[in-house]
Amino acid sequence: MASWREKLNQAAQNTISKSKEVAEIAKLNVEIGSSNQSMKNIYTEVGKYVLENGLLSEDESVAEWAAKAADIKAEIEASTERIKALKNVNTCPGCGAEVPKTSKFCDKCGTPIVVTSTEPVKEDEEIIDADFSEASQEAEAAQAQEAGGEAAESAAPKAGCCCAEAQEAPGED
Ligand SMILES: [Zn+2]
Repeated sequence: MASWREKLNQAAQNTISKSKEVAEIAKLNVEIGSSNQSMKNIYTEVGKYVLENGLLSEDESVAEWAAKAADIKAEIEASTERIKALKNVNTCPGCGAEVPKTSKFCDKCGTPIVVTSTEPVKEDEEIIDADFSEASQEAEAAQAQEAGGEAAESAAPKAGCCCAEAQEAPGED
């Protein structure tokens, strides 16, 4: 029969192994979460690849998804064009910057702007109607999501520069 000392020792050992188990479970759950995210990224890439390359179009489900995606893309494009019309801007074919409709050249890169046939928005036109507002918000959200990655990447070196400047000690020669 185990002495009280042995029992106490065993209890301590049990507590240690229990907390090791908890730590390992937590670690494994983090790994699973990360793997699940990787799987989602792969699914997204596969979907993009299939739709962009027009693959598996004979499959009914894929054909349905492709049709839905085409509708959404058209909506985004229409909303983007509408925004450009409301803002009275063209898009520079060289750098993608927004250029006033009155400009013949891009003020960022100098590319000549091809005049589009889009009429400027009339002053008496109601600028925001409910339907447009909703569609535009969706398009903007989608664009923001798309641009988010790029913006974060381009902002990173800038932030680094600011940090470097801020960290510089004042000259004391
Ligand atoms: Zn440009």
